[in-house]
Amino acid sequence: MDKDMRLKYPAWDDWKWQFANRITNVQKLEKQLPLTETEKEDIQTCLKCFRMAITPYYASLIDASDKNDPIRMQSVPSIKETYIDGNDFLDPLDEEGDSPVPHIVHRYPDRVLFLVTCKCSMYCRHCTRRRIVGEEDRIITEKELQAALDYIRRHGEIRDVLVSGGDPLVMSTEKLEHILSSLRQIPHVDIIRIGTRVPVVMPMRITDELLGMLKKYHPIWINTHFNHPREITPDSERACTAIVDAGIPLGNQTVLLKGINDNAETMKELMLKLVHMRVRPYYLYQCDPSRGISHFRTRVQTGIDIVHSLQGYISGYAVPKFVIDAPGGGGKVPIGYDYVISKDDKEVVLENWNGGKYVYRQPQDWYRPDD
Ligand SMILES: *Cc1c(COP(=O)(O)O)cnc(C)c1O
Ligand code: SF4
Repeated sequence: MDKDMRLKYPAWDDWKWQFANRITNVQKLEKQLPLTETEKEDIQTCLKCFRMAITPYYASLIDASDKNDPIRMQSVPSIKETYIDGNDFLDPLDEEGDSPVPHIVHRYPDRVLFLVTCKCSMYCRHCTRRRIVGEEDRIITEKELQAALDYIRRHGEIRDVLVSGGDPLVMSTEKLEHILSSLRQIPHVDIIRIGTRVPVVMPMRITDELLGMLKKYHPIWINTHFNHPREITPDSERACTAIVDAGIPLGNQTVLLKGINDNAETMKELMLKLVHMRVRPYYLYQCDPSRGISHFRTRVQTGIDIVHSLQGYISGYAVPKFVIDAPGGGGKVPIGYDYVISKDDKEVVLENWNGGKYVYRQPQDWYRPDD
């Protein structure tokens, strides 16, 4: 399929072409994907709430014969998005509440989230930041950038800045460099992290030019967002390998999504393929109660069971930490199977990965008899 695309579209490997030719309406989508009249109407209805944008590359991964294709489900609107669960929030993580200046979320002691753009190359149907993403293509203005930098400068405790959005790698290399070089000039900023889905949805963006720029501002870490093994292709693998070869540790955050990756086999295949590409699974997120995405939410137990079925069975490197980002701004809470059967001052009784029972005796204080 890819070869055909490259012959048909000579600019296929140019990320600016991919971005400019994103599928943003029903007419364009129809050309790639057969749609019934009802589906077309449904998509139109959804587009009033949250817009669509699919890169030609990501769309080429859709299996048109499968209505429940995992690539399709993440990119093509579903009428279920118009259903608002009574428990849905516009801003479930209360990011606005922890925002001291526009574009900065300061929730933890030593690090901030820095939302530099509302643009993404693709609008994921399950996006938790739907409230800001995709409304309009707004990049931070110079004035807002200076105010945000000023905040970081005035807070000496901030040693980790997580540059996110939207997707920072959708910005021009120059604009991104301006932000990174400004952050690097702040002595207490130690690591800079970038959150991006570009390696998954527009891997051609990972160019030598971009990596050459990023390398100047080390230590840089990147987290990407693969949700399904089908997203791992020669193109995304090339992008990930190039990032790691630039000396940038690459992590992955997966969102647990009903009907997409909510079973142990899919998750295991995904995690092993990530590790093969030298991408380290970082978090597995319970899907947030963001507005219009309740059809993607699973029961919490599903995530606990999946991670339990991986722990011990495959390399520890391939097992992500399962977290719930606590609604209301509580931050990420790790949750998982409880391997402790009982615990007192004398001993801890443990269940191991495959169900065996083991005892760890606690250290006992020792005294000389005549003390
Ligand atoms: C996720 C997040 C971070 C980063 O948390 P880590 O656990 O260090 O990856 C920082 N700030 C906010 C507001 C976040 O949501
Ligand atoms: S790339 Fe991230 S911010 Fe953008 S739509 Fe997808 S999940 Fe949301």
